Amino acid sequence: MNIDLPASLSHAYLITGGSGESRAALAKRLAAAYLCEGDGPVPCGVCRHCRKAAAGIHPDVTVLGPPPDKREIGVDQARTLRSDAYIRPNEGRRKVYIVDPADAMNPAAQNALLKVLEDGPAYAAFLLLAAEPGKLLDTVRSRCEPFPLPPEEAPVDPELSEQAEELAELLLTGDEFAVAKGLTALELERPRADQLAALLGETENQIARRLAAHPARGARVLRALKACRENAVFNPGAGHTLGWIAAALFQEA
Ligand SMILES: [Zn+2]
Repeated sequence: MNIDLPASLSHAYLITGGSGESRAALAKRLAAAYLCEGDGPVPCGVCRHCRKAAAGIHPDVTVLGPPPDKREIGVDQARTLRSDAYIRPNEGRRKVYIVDPADAMNPAAQNALLKVLEDGPAYAAFLLLAAEPGKLLDTVRSRCEPFPLPPEEAPVDPELSEQAEELAELLLTGDEFAVAKGLTALELERPRADQLAALLGETENQIARRLAAHPARGARVLRALKACRENAVFNPGAGHTLGWIAAALFQEA
């Protein structure tokens, strides 16, 4: 995922959305951007600051998380960070603090950071990463520029994938009777419209991957599924039936 960074960087961001990995990756890029001494757009990716930040070894980048045996970031950790922020950078122009996950800070820890977030030294930058920003105090949130990441596509649920594989196999190889029987059985399970849409979407993906082996039949199945989707034929409870697929598929044959 390539997210554009703002042209001029704020001193504090609250990074939300995406996944834990994408939030951490963005924080790393932002840390490099704060420290980069390359020409042109930052981070350049090649100067020594960028390389050290990417490798996670820049002395001016601090990542704060819960201690290994705890789930919370406590007030002592927040106070240590706060004092550290008033010590000038080691080798970069800035000092970057990544709090990941920031929503693991207990309220006392959050309160301890308020002042440094509000008016810490000009070189200090703060990146707060949170899956649940609602757990942060309003006073913390309001001191950070929001940086929401787009939601990530959920990986395909293995059960759905298996069901789609069976349906794809049936549609690609079954005779008219078997297809009608299989679709009727599926309909009798009374899937919700969103479940059915997910199943048929994944079935289309699988059929598309098997087109080389079943070119003519595969193309017919895809046309039938697409026509059903576009005509909103799948509307469980509204009198439409999955049998329509069988009809569309074999009428055409
Ligand atoms: Zn650089």
